[in-house]
Amino acid sequence: MCFPAMDGVADLVNCAGKTGARDVLELACALHPAPQLGPVETNAVIRANGCLVAFGASTLLRLLTSGTTRLIVRLDACSECRIGKALPHIEQTVATVRELFAQSENANSVVALTAPANGWQVRSVYEAKNPPVSRREMFGVFSLESKRLASRAFANAESQTGETKRGPRERRRLISVLGSASSNRSMQLQAQGLALVRLIADDKCTACGTCARICPNGALQFTTPTRDSYRLAFVTAACMDCGVCASVCKPHALQRDGMPTLAELLAQEPITLRAGSLCACDKCGARFASVAETRLCPICALRKADPFVSRRTPA
Ligand code: SF4
Ligand code: SF4
Repeated sequence: MCFPAMDGVADLVNCAGKTGARDVLELACALHPAPQLGPVETNAVIRANGCLVAFGASTLLRLLTSGTTRLIVRLDACSECRIGKALPHIEQTVATVRELFAQSENANSVVALTAPANGWQVRSVYEAKNPPVSRREMFGVFSLESKRLASRAFANAESQTGETKRGPRERRRLISVLGSASSNRSMQLQAQGLALVRLIADDKCTACGTCARICPNGALQFTTPTRDSYRLAFVTAACMDCGVCASVCKPHALQRDGMPTLAELLAQEPITLRAGSLCACDKCGARFASVAETRLCPICALRKADPFVSRRTPA
């Protein structure tokens, strides 16, 4: 069953789409005491349904890639807010989008407004829940179509199920918006706060498959296409950079290798980290990655080198 998003993103995107000319769009939270007062260059101010912490990088990117050239995020009232702890998270989201935009466009496309300034004026404010009504909708001619268009915001990301549903909703939205917004597939996603990573596995990998079994997101896949071969593959989009896989890999074969490219994030097929042949351990029969002149699996080799290893207290 697929539940609709309740975080206000669809309302915000829908409202932004209906405000018409909006080169400069301003976002304020539901608790902002005076969103109507602000910079004169703003074309439209939208008051969200709740705290701005609900909006991840994908939402800001979505706005910036669908008509808005400059996005102002109002944080000037956050220090007085009773929610209080959200500010660092919202600032991180803004910083993440600025880092992403710094590679291809103007980083100043999104700015956080942290303090009032002289010369502010009164502007009208749209409520995200109550977007402006177009004449078409007023007369009800295309009401069904417009509702359908509104609910299509992030539709790809929201409707994914089963095999294609990878990672939490914010990740799916991010992939959806990056995939449609940028044609530069070789762009490296250099930005903090995205929980993205590129993993590599070196030749110390013994093909035990532990990393794939423990990965909570199914980002690592260990398969044995034939009895004598194995493949360890990685789904960049599903990995949340939790580090669990590397911590359980006894030979320390898994390592982080910077940030992925957009092409890697959007890849439909898992990326092969290691593939090779398997051989059977001379002693216990377990199958492991075949290495020249090695006839014992890593556990039997360890026990041979130190027969009391399993009785020792771990260091
Ligand atoms: S990377 Fe490490 S945990 Fe994963 S299969 Fe290879 S040896 Fe095992
Ligand atoms: S870092 Fe976490 S999510 Fe990513 S592959 Fe490793 S265990 Fe899976």
